[in-house]
Amino acid sequence: MAYNALETDRFLDEFTKRHPHMPEFHQAMADVAEDVIPHINARRNENEARILRYLSSPDRVISFRVTWQDDDNRMRFNQGFRVQYSNAMGVYKGGLRFHPGVDASVLHFLAFEQTLKNSLTGLPMGGAKGGADFDPKGRSDAEIRRFCQAFMTQLARHIGPDIDVPAGDIGVGIREIAWMFDQYRTVTGHFSGVLTGKHPTFGGSCFREEATGYGCVYLAQEVMKKRGDGLEGKSCTLSGAGNVALHTARKLIDCDAKVITLSDSDGFVRFPEGIGRETLEQIADHKAQRGRLEALAGEEGWEFHSGEKPWSVPADLAFPCATQNELKESDARCLVENGCDAVFEAANMPCTSAASRVLREAEVILVPSKAVNAGGVAVSGMEISQNRMRLRWPVERVDEELRKVMTDIHEACLEFGEDSRGVDYKRGANIAGFSRLAQVIDYYGVS
Ligand code: GLU
Repeated sequence: MAYNALETDRFLDEFTKRHPHMPEFHQAMADVAEDVIPHINARRNENEARILRYLSSPDRVISFRVTWQDDDNRMRFNQGFRVQYSNAMGVYKGGLRFHPGVDASVLHFLAFEQTLKNSLTGLPMGGAKGGADFDPKGRSDAEIRRFCQAFMTQLARHIGPDIDVPAGDIGVGIREIAWMFDQYRTVTGHFSGVLTGKHPTFGGSCFREEATGYGCVYLAQEVMKKRGDGLEGKSCTLSGAGNVALHTARKLIDCDAKVITLSDSDGFVRFPEGIGRETLEQIADHKAQRGRLEALAGEEGWEFHSGEKPWSVPADLAFPCATQNELKESDARCLVENGCDAVFEAANMPCTSAASRVLREAEVILVPSKAVNAGGVAVSGMEISQNRMRLRWPVERVDEELRKVMTDIHEACLEFGEDSRGVDYKRGANIAGFSRLAQVIDYYGVS
């Protein structure tokens, strides 16, 4: 039978016409299309071709004004969003981000990534992402609390335990989740599992805070094992100093790897001998008080590099844990020149397209966010299950399930990404995430 092959350039041109002025969304879609389209064409799969087009737009985009009062009693306005990308596999699921860089393009990219990531976990979750262009930096606790309440007053009507279950992301931690959960309860009168990442005292899963960083290291262990190697003694550069970076660092140290950098938006700190658990906890306490890394500069064995990123520091492995597009082409060249073996994308899409290309051409192993940071949302999925059953699993159980999810993700990457030249983790994760979702959508008769 005749098969109309999909052309990647044409597909992306049509996509850009439908979604103009969305550079991050375009980048995420192009990254997936370049792996998935050749796979679909090789199998001459007309249904999957139609499903890829179907998935190039979200189910629904909700946009709303958030009006809140600052400490000087002035009314302030921010833009809030929820992009409900696909609930084909389960309730919409994905975090909320409060950051001045949030806009429709960033949330479309994050929601699309989340959809494929959630599919990759093997748990029954759809994909979504939301947030606001609110900057918590410099705001008092009372202002952040009022913002959270105002945000949830608007969002509450669009979410629910059978509809959409948000969680945290950049700028939204356990404290903000508590304030939003309280507001949801107040506005709707329902005490339900409408958010994940809650404190365990009111329905949160233990281990949710650790999950993204620990999951990242579990996956890194699998990748190293596949190469006949381990993490012991490996020097690791990390960016960021938030939840993901700190928990990745903790687990790496437990595995006897050497964590030699952390960063925030002011610059990076280098620990030439590797950081110990005690110092890491000191930094975590300082960050929990919303302190800057620079304030700790001058401590013994610390070097603070103002305004710089850590990618010029020679290391065996790199873990970008901060934000999208933080690792540029020139940074990738530095990594290659310094003989970096692998890059684990712990943040969402931290490598620019040009950086990914440089790494792949130099045969540096690039393990994509969808796989690397899926542990966070996986434990969110377990939190949903526990809320449904009204019970709490012990740490050991959650940790064991998390490890299994990460091992399965590694297997899925091999299934679609391994050939005689080695393992292409990006291709593997993209095709595995897409194929599982396409199978479901096929049953619905979209094709
Ligand atoms: N924001 C996290 C992510 O990027 C977690 C989302 C969730 O737990 O729902 O995957």
